[in-house]
Amino acid sequence: MPANPIGIHAGLWVGDWSPASATYAISESAKAGFDLIEIPAGDAPNIDVALTAKLLADHGLTGVYSLALPASADINDEDDSVVARGERMLEAAVTLARDTGSRYVGGVTYSKMGQYDHPFTARSRANSQAVLGRVAEKAKAAGVTIGLEFVNRYESNLLNTAQQTVDFIREIGADNLAVHIDTFHVNTEEPDQVTPVRVAGPLLAYIHAGENHRGYLGSGSIDWPALFKALNESNFTGPITFESFSGAVLDPELSHTLGLWRNPWVDPAAVARHAHDFIATQLAAAAATSSFSIAPATELAH
Ligand code: MN
Repeated sequence: MPANPIGIHAGLWVGDWSPASATYAISESAKAGFDLIEIPAGDAPNIDVALTAKLLADHGLTGVYSLALPASADINDEDDSVVARGERMLEAAVTLARDTGSRYVGGVTYSKMGQYDHPFTARSRANSQAVLGRVAEKAKAAGVTIGLEFVNRYESNLLNTAQQTVDFIREIGADNLAVHIDTFHVNTEEPDQVTPVRVAGPLLAYIHAGENHRGYLGSGSIDWPALFKALNESNFTGPITFESFSGAVLDPELSHTLGLWRNPWVDPAAVARHAHDFIATQLAAAAATSSFSIAPATELAH
């Protein structure tokens, strides 16, 4: 069994986290062989904590959370009331994670997810860093790491590359802030899939495995063998979570924010089983071909 937990985004199964949706998503994820499920925390105060914790325990799944701040709660903004709303959303997600035994909250946690019509400003960036510094402190007390998922230029103006994310985290200086890589976004903004893994180095906590078109893994242009080799060489043991969406499942609001105008699949169980086998196979292949190499030299390793 590979060291990396293999995860699945709940958005593959459901468009909300009602008790019925939680029950269905967690049981189907376990049935498809996954170790971990990523649960949407954008509506954290209304999530049934006891039920979620019980379902995870009953099915032997690790739960992690993700959210993407909306424009009305953008901490990368100059309006203090908007920034404060974002801080409360992040705090609620951390509390939810703590109360359900989870140790990770990731996603677009540093800005809104959506297209900006202007660059970030010194003040908006400083607001984001100040909020994340405070939230990280609360998260630390709860044993929770906050992942910053850099995304493509159409979904944030603040963090589009691993290097920007590393610099941003280092400036804040909290040791429970981490880099979250999504291959879909890397495909747009980075030279290749290997560079961000090397740049993130020990700050890398979490991977979203998504094809360039967000459909079946291996049916697009992402260089999976190169990515898994780089992860193996980095001794990365964190979760690798399949992220794919179809308008056949997702709620319309998120679907529209993501620009999901086509459905890459209609049967979530089939695409989930395929993704699990694909990731497990890539992990095994990378482990088999790795010679005993020394840890990669990155400027962050020392
Ligand atoms: Mn993602």
